[in-house]
Amino acid sequence: MAEERPNLLGLSRDKMKALFSELGEKPFRAQQIMQWLHQRGELELNAMTDISKSLRGQLEQSVDIRLPKIVADYPSDDGSHKWVIEVASGSRVEMVFIPEGGRGTLCVSSQAGCSLDCSFCATGKQGFNSNLTVAEIVGQVWLARQQLGGFEQGAERKVSNVVMMGMGEPLLNFEAVMDAVNIMMDDWAYGLSKRKVTISTSGVVPAIRRMKEFTDASLAVSLHAPNDALRSSIMPINKRYPIGELLDAVTDYMAGLQDKRMPVIEYTLIKGINDHRQHARELAQVLASFPCKINLIPFNPFSLSDYQRPSDSVIGNFREILQRAGFTVTVRTTRADDIGAACGQLVGDVEDQTRRQQRHLKRAQQGGVNANSEKERRTEILASTANLATTADRF
Ligand code: SAH
Ligand code: SF4
Repeated sequence: MAEERPNLLGLSRDKMKALFSELGEKPFRAQQIMQWLHQRGELELNAMTDISKSLRGQLEQSVDIRLPKIVADYPSDDGSHKWVIEVASGSRVEMVFIPEGGRGTLCVSSQAGCSLDCSFCATGKQGFNSNLTVAEIVGQVWLARQQLGGFEQGAERKVSNVVMMGMGEPLLNFEAVMDAVNIMMDDWAYGLSKRKVTISTSGVVPAIRRMKEFTDASLAVSLHAPNDALRSSIMPINKRYPIGELLDAVTDYMAGLQDKRMPVIEYTLIKGINDHRQHARELAQVLASFPCKINLIPFNPFSLSDYQRPSDSVIGNFREILQRAGFTVTVRTTRADDIGAACGQLVGDVEDQTRRQQRHLKRAQQGGVNANSEKERRTEILASTANLATTADRF
């Protein structure tokens, strides 16, 4: 098989510089090209006028500039927006833009499907198909900016925050995600603040321990339970990396950052499972010496799951117990009912390699859960129903 040409959109500054030195060029060419691609949105080498003709010719022969393709577009009345994009493996993944006050948050996918099978997650129920490439991850930021008119001269940059809370477990696609977040934070590319680029993880401990060598992006941790028995029952990864080890690894990562920052603990509230007052008290104890902010996410229902969202009063009580214990607690609001899909509830269209979809469908049918045919289920989730969650919140 012919060797694949490098995709310029997915090269971090270091890798771009290495490419130019291989071509016998000055490293500052890397900055010029990055600005053309990521700041001006220019994808045609021929239009990059400050690059010599001969170098452009050389690049035409040796590199690619390839974006993932938008295949569906769901604008919402409230300014939120969901796009379905097709990646090289043929799978479809989703990204969501949520404007809010002065900021605009883009929720980005890192994998087509997910292998970790958390019991409350629509992506997890799909199984795993493939890792996204660096260009497919960064390409989501590029596409969102383009779709929102952000490459036009003098245009407002609407994407101010990126959260890796779309489909997939970012730290199981480690190398690509590290390069992608570094491109997002690079001043020659998107120049986003390290406080505004957040990797959300279910707790892949060895990867959290490696992160500090590669990036200083912000971290959110999906905890969802205050003890190992409960967490293992809803998040299989906990059997491998229990809560104590996870919190230690996060503490070390945060301690290595230059500035003072706190991780966000995400806690999806599921009726009758992890939403009792006792769970809130236990959580306050577990986190007593772990500086963090807590983000409560009311469960977003989807077919194939018979979990339910707790009532507002249960959510309120849970929050109050944590607040009284001294934590800053936000509750993720839901909106944009008209376009569907919350971060963490995204499904796209994934050719499952793990046969997990089939297993879940079968189990759901046996258990009498609302298991539509696969096609109906995808259409349902892609086109309507669910709510859009936002990272910010009501205090
Ligand atoms: N794999 C990563 C990031 C993607 S999920 C992780 O697990 O952190 C983004 C967030 O949405 C996670 O906190 C996840 O637990 C949560 N989530 C998943 N399914 C959900 C659902 N149905 N309702 C509410 N939150 C959900
Ligand atoms: Fe994967 Fe995150 Fe969903 Fe768990 S919550 S299955 S880790 S995407």
